[in-house]
Amino acid sequence: MQTVTEKSAAQLHDYLARLDAPQTYSDESCRQFADIIHRIRVLKAQRNAVVLAHNYQRPEIFEVADFVGDSLELARQATTVDADVIVFCGVHFMAETAKVLNPVKKVLIPDLRAGCSLAESVTADALVERRDALRKTYPDLQIVAYVNTTADVKAVVDVCCTSSNAVKVVNALPTQNILFVPDEHLGAYVQSQTSKNVISWNGNCYVHHQITAENIARVKEALPHAKILVHPECRADVVALADAVLSTSGMVTYAKKSDAEEFVVVTECGLSDRLLLEVPEKKFYKACKLCQYMKMITLEGTLVALEQMKFQVDLDEDVRVGAERSLRRMLELS
Ligand code: SF4
Repeated sequence: MQTVTEKSAAQLHDYLARLDAPQTYSDESCRQFADIIHRIRVLKAQRNAVVLAHNYQRPEIFEVADFVGDSLELARQATTVDADVIVFCGVHFMAETAKVLNPVKKVLIPDLRAGCSLAESVTADALVERRDALRKTYPDLQIVAYVNTTADVKAVVDVCCTSSNAVKVVNALPTQNILFVPDEHLGAYVQSQTSKNVISWNGNCYVHHQITAENIARVKEALPHAKILVHPECRADVVALADAVLSTSGMVTYAKKSDAEEFVVVTECGLSDRLLLEVPEKKFYKACKLCQYMKMITLEGTLVALEQMKFQVDLDEDVRVGAERSLRRMLELS
């Protein structure tokens, strides 16, 4: 988890220039960003607000974030801060998780269109129907849900998991048969690491699903000394080419601690940007794809969210309590 400090327009330009994206980060756009960043910081103080930013956000968003990390790290971080308002710069299911764990705080998401193909691939009704059908064959079946699910889904499952603790959570359950939702690739990865029977839901993250083994094999051939860091939401044949299979936060820690100097980052491009900015002494090659949902959150939208206190995330209390139970069980098991 990273906290950030304020920069002048000139410092911001030098900082963002490392990303090699001159059209996006021109002198003029950096001046505009510096002005909006200042206005957001003033409003944060007036509203007693914190901004949480997911690793896949635009780099300029990191400049107004109090914390940068993965979704669960951020939601848990929010429980420890003395703020009345949480502005969640990420996608909708992540803002819901922040609300589940912080029911008395106002949680805002700057753009309601920031959804997720993976979270949308499973509904609570479809899941209950599948669970009941499978329990006729596997009476001990329990459901493990990746945190990339809606609060409605979290409320009907037995336990949640993240990409970094999924294997541990599955192994800690007192049952042999597991229905794993919603990511088929993470489910296949968990199956490869456990003797339990893991039945995967048929969903995927469209960002990681687009990355092919042919893409990565070509990069590996061109950069034989670089370590290949792969997210377990990738296809199994991509995971097989990895030097390390890691969550986004795991990649940050690995890159900082490793003796290696060069890395190929196989996940959403925002993480490559974060690494390029935070670890300038090492080289990071982008074998990544952009998530259109994550990029719907902008600096301008974050300013409007704080000015107008929108869009508020609200949950039915039964759903919130059910989702919290599944998240807390994950923390106990992992
Ligand atoms: S990167 Fe994939 S899992 Fe993450 S928000 Fe985008 S679509 Fe969803």
